[in-house]
Amino acid sequence: MLDVNHVIKKYGKNLACNDVTFHLNPGDTTILLGPNGAGKSTIMKSIMGFLKYQGAITVDGNVNKSVEAKKILGFVPEMPALYPNLTVSEHLEFIARAYKLTDYKGRIEELLTRFELDDKRKKFGDELSKGMQQKLNLCIGLLPNPKVLLLDEPMIGLDPHAIKELKKYIEQMRSEGKTLLISTHIIDSVDMLWDRTIIMQNGMVKANVTKSELEGTGQNLEDLFFDVTEGINKEEEA
Ligand code: ADP
Repeated sequence: MLDVNHVIKKYGKNLACNDVTFHLNPGDTTILLGPNGAGKSTIMKSIMGFLKYQGAITVDGNVNKSVEAKKILGFVPEMPALYPNLTVSEHLEFIARAYKLTDYKGRIEELLTRFELDDKRKKFGDELSKGMQQKLNLCIGLLPNPKVLLLDEPMIGLDPHAIKELKKYIEQMRSEGKTLLISTHIIDSVDMLWDRTIIMQNGMVKANVTKSELEGTGQNLEDLFFDVTEGINKEEEA
């Protein structure tokens, strides 16, 4: 469903993505793990077509920058980019019209209720607290209900209720067959169902394993993470 082939992205001399290749199967939930600065956001922004890079990325066989790809690709960025002069409701209405969504009013209501923004619908973007901005950012990303959704550090800045709702929402999207790529640097936050994990470090993919492959090794996600990023187990064995 999503093919990332030999992507290289440099910011000046800084190699943020160094020959990144991976493939996501339709309907899979993939956890993109890596320490800060590993290149997770950069590969997500490259997939979304926001950056110039070398390499090739396709979504369901379409080049990621094509209209066909954009129709099925969604993104929840790490940093909310809201309009200071639009209210919460107007943000969602704007996104619904931009994506030419039909029958979206009920979905907007559901999202506002789930993420406890229903009493904030008349507040402007610049009147929202950081946490409320994060929640609106999430609602904006979820509203179009895309086939393939990238969530960049989606738990950061959310209160416990919103984290719980988001996890439930992720399970729901997974059961609906969406292809999900969720980045995080916090291993403990990965307690939802997942199918594959990709671990990045220094711009490179250091591990790419399915859940059943990991279970077969007897390692848990934390063991694998420290094994590939710090070589803990190798040192112990040496
Ligand atoms: P992660 O999401 O895993 O924390 P990023 O993709 O944000 O990592 O960053 C990867 C590398 O690229 C880091 O070294 C970071 O400093 C650098 N980087 C990210 N964005 C920019 C930018 N806009 N300009 C210059 N360097 C950047």
